[in-house]
Formats: sequence, structure tokens, C-alpha cells
Amino acid sequence: TLIAAATFVDRHGSRHPLPDASAEAQVRADDRAHVFHSWSAQALIDPLPIAAGEGSTFWDYEGNAFLDFSSQLVNLNLGHQHPDLVAAIQQQAGRLATIQPSMANDVRGELARRIAEVAPGDLDRVFFTNGGADANEYAVRMARAVTGRRKVLSMYRSYHGGTATAISLTGDPRRWPNEPSDGSVAHFLGPYPYRSSFHASSEAEETERALAHLEQVITLEGAGTIAAIILETIVGTNGVLVPPPGYLAGVRELCDRFGIVYIADEVMVGFGRVGEWFAVNAFGVVPDLITFAKGVNSGYVPLGGVVISQRIASHFDTVAFAGGLTYSGHPLACAAGVATFEVFERDGILDRVRDLGSRVVEPRLREIAAAHPSVGEVRGRGLFWAIELVRDRATREPFVPFNASGTDAAPMAAVAAACKQAGLWPFVHFNRLHVAPPLIIAEDELVRGLDIIDDALGIADGYVAG
Ligand code: PLP
Repeated sequence: TLIAAATFVDRHGSRHPLPDASAEAQVRADDRAHVFHSWSAQALIDPLPIAAGEGSTFWDYEGNAFLDFSSQLVNLNLGHQHPDLVAAIQQQAGRLATIQPSMANDVRGELARRIAEVAPGDLDRVFFTNGGADANEYAVRMARAVTGRRKVLSMYRSYHGGTATAISLTGDPRRWPNEPSDGSVAHFLGPYPYRSSFHASSEAEETERALAHLEQVITLEGAGTIAAIILETIVGTNGVLVPPPGYLAGVRELCDRFGIVYIADEVMVGFGRVGEWFAVNAFGVVPDLITFAKGVNSGYVPLGGVVISQRIASHFDTVAFAGGLTYSGHPLACAAGVATFEVFERDGILDRVRDLGSRVVEPRLREIAAAHPSVGEVRGRGLFWAIELVRDRATREPFVPFNASGTDAAPMAAVAAACKQAGLWPFVHFNRLHVAPPLIIAEDELVRGLDIIDDALGIADGYVAG
């Protein structure tokens, strides 16, 4: 039987055909038989075939539209099929599709210059990688070469990527099945005022005690053995943990005092997510190295990198840097990166994110928190927020324990299903629902998405104790 092709309507009101249902069956069959997926038990997943995307929306083969509140792993800052990025990649492909990293190239150089212009302090060189994990690997390698030390400290409740050293740096359960990998990593506790490890009763106390703890870890691990401290400027996947005032400045001071390289992982929060080019800019702190990926070109072509201070870069003036990647600074990826800068500047993306965050998202989430007994806390900045769900507001017992093996415990799965049913694709992790839409999302779409979340949380309320 011939099934009529489904259609989708883009944001300009034009109707486009979607592939028909027989195409969907083939996508599903190929995927199930031959694609090996990340972080999953292969037999227990059923990935939804996606037919098209445009702006903040994507469509399945039946024509169901989903408002994308996940930005595809908090990556797609300029949304699906942004015409400027697509044109830049097409134009570059027609001109020079690839060139090895040891040669100079116009778009690679222009992107490095533009990143240097918006990076803090004297960070003015860029080493390009294929993504976030390898950016962190290379940042650590630079720190080890410069200091002559090996150990790296990273935070519990962090994610730094899936490759050998990056997964060792990671401070969440994804590390466990991969241990031991890089043996020279030790972890410390970071600030998390809502679940303070330090029994702090104010943000100021949390900052003070978290820094005292970090200093103690440095001392116990041996300051002279520590090459680097790496931390996400705002912890992303592990809960949108915005550091309390003074914390990052305190980390900077400890690094200076003990000759340790400060690596800021901005793979998720860089390039506009919180209304800044780099999130450290909001905290007035200058790290030695900043790692980035994702938002630099919205992942249209894989790209990441390390922004390097003059002090670190100058170490390699006469000593060879022992590292490289065939696709470092790939012209298609860099062309999309240059186009990203042009769009951000022309369309005032950073101002837009700050405005939507403070005028639309924050007040609406505070309202939602007040209305739902299942909401323990809402927190965030710009277009990057978390709603933390609890069984009991008084005890703060989470719906899913931190060491759970999956994220699909009943209440969270039910909330996610209700969101999808209503046309919103949520980002759910452990006991949290994150709000991370593309930065180009229209205000009415944002309002509609938050309304859907408000409705879906009614289900979570049903799981509240008592
Ligand atoms: N660092 C942070 C903070 C991340 O959020 C991620 C990915 O989510 C990574 C590193 C790893 O990046 P990639 O998946 O591009 O290797």
C-alpha cells in the first residue's frame, strides 16, 4: 500500500514533504542491525528516526514535530539548518574541502583570530581538535609538558568526554566501567549549595569550605605532583551547577599559588549558552587553557579546541608540541565557525540569550517551582537551566539516586514521555530536567515549551512522598 508522504511546516509557514513511512522502516532496520550506539545496552534502545530539522524544531517520519529543548546534547546553539552555516559549508566545500593541519588556511586562521578576540586575558592561540573530549586530552597534555608534572585534579559530578584521559577526568558514573584508564587523576568535591558536601548554609560558606577542601586535596595529593586542575565553568550534564560567587577566583588563586595549570572546560557552556562567548567572562576569571567544542559551530561539522595563554604557548616556541590530528582545523568545520561569529554579531545572540534567560525563563521557572511540590530547586543562567526533582522537598531525596545505573526511573521516564507526547523533546538526566533550547528559539516557542514542562510536572507531583 502506498502511504501518503507526511509533511512539515517550517517557521516561515512553507510546507515541505517528509520521506514516506517505507523510508522510516529502512532507517529503523539499518540502525537496529548495524549502528552501534553510545552509552547504551544495544538491545534495550529504540532510537527515533528523524526526518528533518529546522530552527528549534525537528520532525519524525510521521510528521510529528518536536520543539528541541535539548539542542542535541546542548550543541545546536544556532538551531537546525541555519541558512548561514549551511551556505558557509557549501561554499567552502566548493572551494577547498580539506587541507592538512601543517599548512596555513584562511578560514582556520580567521576562526582562531576571532576566538582569540573574545577569549579572556592573554589567551590568544588555538589548537583545533575534532570535539570536546580530545580538546580536554590535549589541554592536559599541554599542562603536563609545561609543568613537568603528571597528576590532574578534577571534580566529582563532572563530565569531560569519553576518550581515555577525558573519561578518567569525568566525575560521574560513566567513568566507573572504564577504570583504570589514566591513572594520574584524582577527584575533589565542588560547590553544590543545594546538596552541600560541606554542610554550608550560605553560598559564601559553600565557597569558603569548597576552596578549603580543594586546598587540602592539593596538599594531600602533593602540590608538586599536580599539573592541572580542570573544571567545567558551569557544570553541565551533572546538573547546571553555577559556581557561587568567589569560587572560580579562589581556584585561580590556588593554581597560581601552587604552580598548577587552570583548565576551564567550556565545551558545553562556551559560545553563547549562558550569554557570554566564554562563561568565565561572567566570573571575571582568566584560566590558562579553555577547551571548547559544540557551540563553536553548532556541531554542523565536528570541531573542538583549546584556547592557550601566551605563557603556555611560549613554552612550545622552541620545544616541539608532541601531538596532532589529521582533521585539526578542518576547513568545513572552521567555515561554519566563522559563520557562527557572523551570525552571533549580526543577530545580537549574546544579548538575546541574556534577555530571554532573565526575562522569560527564570521568572517562569520560579513560578513552576512554586507550583510543583516535586521541584526541589531551579537554577541556571542564560538559556541553560536545570529543574531538580525530589520525592520530598524537606529531605531533598532525589527521584533517582546519583549512582543509579540508568536515567529512566519511573517518574523521570513518565515526565519525559509526557513532554514528548505534547511535542517537546526534553533533556533528562538522573533527577533533572534541563532547559537548553537553541539560542535562536523564538520567544513564543520558548513560552510554549515551558508551558509543556509545567503540565508534565503534574505527573512528577504524583510521585511526591506523602
Ligand atoms: N566536556 C563537557 C563539559 C561536555 O559537556 C562534553 C560533552 O557533552 C565533553 C567535554 C565531551 O565532548 P565531545 O562529546 O565532543 O567529545
